[in-house]
Amino acid sequence: MADWRNEVEALTLKGQIKMPYTWSVGETGSRFLIALRDEQKILANRCPKCGTVYVPPRKNCGGCFVDIGTDDWLEISSEGVVTSFTVVRYAYALQPVAPPFAYAIIQLDGASVGFVHIIKDGLERLKNGARVRAKFQEERSGRILDIDGFKIIEA
Ligand SMILES: [Zn+2]
Repeated sequence: MADWRNEVEALTLKGQIKMPYTWSVGETGSRFLIALRDEQKILANRCPKCGTVYVPPRKNCGGCFVDIGTDDWLEISSEGVVTSFTVVRYAYALQPVAPPFAYAIIQLDGASVGFVHIIKDGLERLKNGARVRAKFQEERSGRILDIDGFKIIEA
C-alpha cells in the first residue's frame, strides 16, 4: 500500500487553542500559595543536602534529587534584584495583565534561584540590578497573582 506522504507534500497548519483548565498544585504549591493569600509572605524551602534555597518551593531538589521536607521551609524576603527582564508592549490573550508590563526574573534576598513575576510600573527605570519589592493584592485568592507585581524601589 502506497504511503500518501511519498506522493504529496505533507503540510501542517499552526493553530492555537485557548482551553481553561484546573489542576492540583499539590501540597508544596498549596502551602506556598496559602502563605501568599493569608499572610502576604513568600515562602521558600532549602534542600537539606546541598542548601539550595528554592522559591517557589519544590517537593524535591532539582540538583541532588533528595526530598525537601516540611522542616526545610522558611520565609524569604519580598525584596530582591532584577536579573533579567523583557518588556511586553503587545496585547495577547494569555497575558496575566494588560500591557505594557515586564516579565522579570527576580533574585529575592536569600534565594538561590530566580523568581519569575511581573513589573507593571516604572518600566522606563527598569534595568538589570534594579531593586524591587513585592506588592500584594488587597484581595487575595491563593494564586501567584496574589502578588500584584514587583515595584522598583531603587533603579
Ligand atoms: Zn540539593
